[in-house]
Amino acid sequence: MPALAAQPIVYDFVSPSTIVFGWGRRVEVGRLASRIARRAFVVCGSRTLEQSGLPQQFDNLLRQAGVEPIHVPRPASHEPEVSDVDNLTRWLIDRGATDSDCLIAVGGGSTIDLAKAAAALATNSAGVPPSGGSSDRLKPGLQPTSVREFLEGVGSGRTITRPPLPLIAIPTTAGTGSEATKNAVISSYDPPFKKSLRSDLMLPRVVLVDPELTVSVPPHITAWTGMDAITQLIESYVSCRSQPIPRTLAMQGLELAIPAVVEAVRDGSSRSARERMSHAALLSGLSLANSGLGLAHGVAAALGSCAKVPHGLACAVMLRVALRVNRSVCTESFASLAPAITNRTHASTDTAADAVVARIDELCHDLGIPRRLSELGVRPDQIPDLVAGSHGNSLSGNPREISDAELRETLEQMF
Ligand code: NAD
Repeated sequence: MPALAAQPIVYDFVSPSTIVFGWGRRVEVGRLASRIARRAFVVCGSRTLEQSGLPQQFDNLLRQAGVEPIHVPRPASHEPEVSDVDNLTRWLIDRGATDSDCLIAVGGGSTIDLAKAAAALATNSAGVPPSGGSSDRLKPGLQPTSVREFLEGVGSGRTITRPPLPLIAIPTTAGTGSEATKNAVISSYDPPFKKSLRSDLMLPRVVLVDPELTVSVPPHITAWTGMDAITQLIESYVSCRSQPIPRTLAMQGLELAIPAVVEAVRDGSSRSARERMSHAALLSGLSLANSGLGLAHGVAAALGSCAKVPHGLACAVMLRVALRVNRSVCTESFASLAPAITNRTHASTDTAADAVVARIDELCHDLGIPRRLSELGVRPDQIPDLVAGSHGNSLSGNPREISDAELRETLEQMF
């Protein structure tokens, strides 16, 4: 990547309009919801948080602010599938959800994506009059169009053209940054695919990040989700669609996340580690939404749909490999990330770039991230499906093109 000063500066930057960040600030949920809605459909995606009384606390806070809370049945605890989105969309339509209501998604990336997709489908699927204004009431009893039709690469090309129901995104893992992105990732296992629906209109209206909500995330999920954020920060920085504002955000995110992820895994109650990870994850979402991603995320989607590998773990396993595959074309960009990732200066751009690869290797080792695809339950005969399933928006952002033959060989070497 040439130095910024040598390039014409032209970019778009999209982000949620309100971001509220801070330890314990979930108590502001009523105030934030009352600005945009009379009723709030609350989706809580974590059994642990549900058992800790969070939904009851939200009920009280929303009522005190004059907002009627309506609890959505807790979604299945897996990454969202086509049927999950279609069911939630129908549930919302049957309850007459309109744009004077809002959705509040409290959970990891799975919950936020599920709510993001259903919020978009509720105003964009069949049953909504084509000429209806934004205040039109949705019609109960009508069959919503399946989200599948809106998914990149596998859908029928339908797009999100109307503003979704307003969404308040409250992440409870520190990883995906989905609270700040304009896409929702939806899976299917038969046939296998993991694809996004995407629109600038899908950016959450309000983002409320309370790092205290991540304290109960167990160590292995802290490691996987933390590595997802780190992968997003690096891949968005080196992406062929990389942009100036996200590059600055990514640098700060990496400086905070590289030491903090180990600390958060070791001591989940560390306020400072949890704060740094939640902030880094948010920055990773802002970065990927504007700059795209790369090889690690492309293959991670295929590992998710072909072998049900959790998203963060899949990214962590693939990051090391992606760094090696891209090393030859990324000397400058890896070297400019070196101070943030390695926390020291280096004699030359080559040694700095090599130090970045080595530091990520060491970090993955310290976090117990496996190297072999067989350790993830993947079989060699799945390689053709993995290659086919890796193509899409993420892979197209990789800093250099990867042929199917090279990708197949790369994956074969991981057994
Ligand atoms: P997740 O949401 O699937 O959560 C992982 C597990 O942690 C679940 O069992 C969940 O119940 C639990 N959990 C969540 N919060 C908890 C808490 N505070 N305490 C205890 N347990 C808790 O995992 P994730 O990595 O956050 O999200 C993964 C999904 O996000 C994938 O589908 C991935 O494709 C998607 N994603 C979306 C984007 C985007 O921009 N839309 C970006 C990256 C990833």
